[in-house]
Amino acid sequence: MRIWDIPPENMCRNHLLGEHRELHALWSIITNSKKAYAHHPETLRWRGKLKALYLRHEALVREMTKRGYKHHTPLDPALATGKAVQDEFVNTYEEQVRILKERGYECRV
Ligand SMILES: [Zn+2]
Ligand SMILES: [Zn+2]
Repeated sequence: MRIWDIPPENMCRNHLLGEHRELHALWSIITNSKKAYAHHPETLRWRGKLKALYLRHEALVREMTKRGYKHHTPLDPALATGKAVQDEFVNTYEEQVRILKERGYECRV
């Protein structure tokens, strides 16, 4: 499970759609206080920052829509509480760029 900090417009199809799917899973874990993945690093860094996670989802959806994908799974804005800015990272931005480059993915980083 990974939420990237890469601008959505630079992400390839696989990573864009994959992150969107995982973001919904993470949103559900946090808003429903699920036990599974409760101690996962991504869960820990987004807890208390649902507003920021909501905004990341909106950015992903904007890019998906631009590329012609339909989106039918809006998040409940009433749950988008807490900090609006993410300032904790599992991997730094530079590490994320390196991960995407090393594995030969198609993201433009
Ligand atoms: Zn969605
Ligand atoms: Zn990619």
